[in-house]
Amino acid sequence: MKNILILGATGSIGESVLSVIKQNYEKLNLFGISFNQNISKGKQIIDEFSPSFVHIDDLMGYNNIEKSENSSYLNSIEDLENLINHQDIDIIVCAISGFAGLNATHMAAHTGKKLLLANKESIVAGGDLILPIAREYKTEIIPIDSEHNAIFQCLNGEKGTEDVKEIIITASGGPFLGSSVNDLKNVTLQDALDHPNWKMGKKVTIDSATLVNKCLELIEAKYLFDLDEHYFDLVIHPQSIVHSIVTYVDGSSICQMSSPDMKVPIAHALSEKNRLTIDFNSLDFTSLNLTFQEFPKDRMEIQNIAREVCNEGSNLGTVFNAANEIAVESFINGEIKFDEIYEVIYRTFTIDHVSNDLSLESIHDIDTQTRIEAKKVVKSLN
Ligand code: NDP
Ligand code: MG
Repeated sequence: MKNILILGATGSIGESVLSVIKQNYEKLNLFGISFNQNISKGKQIIDEFSPSFVHIDDLMGYNNIEKSENSSYLNSIEDLENLINHQDIDIIVCAISGFAGLNATHMAAHTGKKLLLANKESIVAGGDLILPIAREYKTEIIPIDSEHNAIFQCLNGEKGTEDVKEIIITASGGPFLGSSVNDLKNVTLQDALDHPNWKMGKKVTIDSATLVNKCLELIEAKYLFDLDEHYFDLVIHPQSIVHSIVTYVDGSSICQMSSPDMKVPIAHALSEKNRLTIDFNSLDFTSLNLTFQEFPKDRMEIQNIAREVCNEGSNLGTVFNAANEIAVESFINGEIKFDEIYEVIYRTFTIDHVSNDLSLESIHDIDTQTRIEAKKVVKSLN
């Protein structure tokens, strides 16, 4: 039996992890959960799974939740650290959304446990800090992000190999597939949230609509597989069936395929030697029509920023991530138009914040400064 801690259990990834656990009760046990504010969803999970520990980041949520006798309730950052380090936990799933996941990922990287990572932003903002810690403490990071899990499977569990020639990271293209940035000036929040293939949290859904998600994933891949950015190509694949493709130096290309369902990469990441059995939608290969297209030319500038982040390192990833988070938040709040998300990122990115101090404190400082700058850019656009 493996004991699992889900950080960000009330979200979309959290829900998929819970579903895989439910379908494999004899092998997987929900030992602990964390979340922020969603106490009604949190309570539902607690009632159904009776986890031993519940960490609620939001103090009001912690105070207000009706507490059950079978679980211990925690709120402080020290309690979170103790929970993450609890000796009975085998697997930690980091499914918090955004930069808010950095501290938890940082703590988990020190444990020497298995870390299933969905929270790409912690790697984009803090890859140069997190990956060396994970290596030092022998923490095994297994990606849950579908493309990265696909690459991981295609590499047969080996991270980064000299036999790789190229890796294609696929992108659905989101709800605005085929539209130029110019066509997107007046799209609404609802339009942007209407993803054709995946049902996800708000922030990652907007990232998919702008294609910034793919840029974050390029940076994530560079760190997770320890390969230079030039190994990775971003390609649009509207059906979201082929989740990524690894081409080896001998000409073999290996891909991983499934219906678009996050339970598939999650089940892989939670498995040991043998695969876990879950319900899934079978692919009807006789009726599949798989197509691939170039990444849109008018999104080259944003892709180039991501490539610069990969090549330069230092704190550029923190800046890119923070600028994007403020841009997305401002779009969701109706403060900027959809196409202005790019503008906020471009203008914020050119402000000089670079520091080679890669400590957690420095990353937080750069993140805070960048958010201030990005908010100024948002104001200037109004
Ligand atoms: P959601 O917005 O659905 O869920 C986010 C979760 O994080 C919630 O449980 C939320 O708690 C929790 N949370 C937010 N802030 C904090 C905090 N300060 N402390 C503790 N918990 C916190 O996001 P998703 O599940 O969609 O995405 C999670 C991550 O996975 C993101 O990094 C995303 O990019 C990545 N990802 C998601 C995919 C998907 O299919 N959804 C696909 C690939 C990657 P509360 O509900 O209480 O606010
Ligand atoms: Mg993805």
